[in-house]
Amino acid sequence: MKIIVLVKQVPDTTEVQLDPKTGNLIREGIESIMNPDDRHAVEAAVGLKETLQARVTAVSMGPPQAVDVLSEAIGMGVDEGILLSDRAFAGADTWATSTTLGRAVEVIGDYGLVICGRQAIDGDTAQIGPQVADYLQIPHVSYVSGIEKVEADAVFVRRRLEDGFERIRCRMPALLTVIGELNVPRYPHVGRLIDACREKAPIKVWNVADLGLKTAEVGLEGSLTHVIKTFAPKFQRRSEILQGDARTVVSGLLDRLKEIRVI
Ligand SMILES: Cc1cc2nc3c(=O)[nH]c(=O)nc-3n(C[C@H](O)[C@H](O)[C@H](O)COP(=O)(O)OP(=O)(O)OC[C@H]3O[C@@H](n4cnc5c(N)ncnc54)[C@H](O)[C@@H]3O)c2cc1C
Repeated sequence: MKIIVLVKQVPDTTEVQLDPKTGNLIREGIESIMNPDDRHAVEAAVGLKETLQARVTAVSMGPPQAVDVLSEAIGMGVDEGILLSDRAFAGADTWATSTTLGRAVEVIGDYGLVICGRQAIDGDTAQIGPQVADYLQIPHVSYVSGIEKVEADAVFVRRRLEDGFERIRCRMPALLTVIGELNVPRYPHVGRLIDACREKAPIKVWNVADLGLKTAEVGLEGSLTHVIKTFAPKFQRRSEILQGDARTVVSGLLDRLKEIRVI
């Protein structure tokens, strides 16, 4: 069986800082890492590879430096990496990103499972997994916290709910988005990592032509949504110190709370 895992390179911070003038993400001085949920996706794929004799391909869309997350995935046991990198992919919203990733999965073909993280810590939309499944017209299960077994044509998973979990039998090929509860990701194997860093790793780079897509379908041009403005909300706290004896302060507080309709 073939398993495809989607991995994204993200800035190593959960507190994304915006340039107040341009509204762009401040990336200077911030290290890039593999998106945390994707490490669990890679672990799941590599774990299944060992029990099912599967072949695992990791796919990432991003600039040339995103090759680092593919090297890390190979260090963890993935067989090969494919980096989708082309200037035409720049400025993609989630729709264009899902079209690009979905098409790459289609070109790889003959897969049983596509595994991705639930959510990326920078974009934070959690839309890519379900949208890629929609592009491929395959079923998907989100918030997967356990993979119980894989049969010839179905996968049995646990799906996290707010106050419990569901057990689901899902027809394959299928897409799963996974959460941290699923497993403990292994550390990359040093030898494999060194090979990957010495460019010995089996990593291919595909551009828009390799995917057979038109530039109008990807990147900014292929995006259905456009960000008009990005800003961080400003919190303004007003404070007031009530003075006097306890009776005066408490009755003053009650008056204020009534004024702002809290009571
Ligand atoms: C309205 C809108 C406009 C945007 N405009 C721009 C823009 O102009 N320029 C820009 O750079 N970005 C833009 N983005 C952000 C960009 O679209 C997202 O970063 C990207 O689509 C992935 O979405 P996400 O980070 O929310 O991923 P999520 O849906 O939160 O990620 C879920 C999972 O999908 C997989 N995944 C996600 N992205 C990738 C990837 N690139 N490669 C491999 N796997 C992946 C991973 O497994 C990940 O864990 C825009 C987003 C929106 C919503």
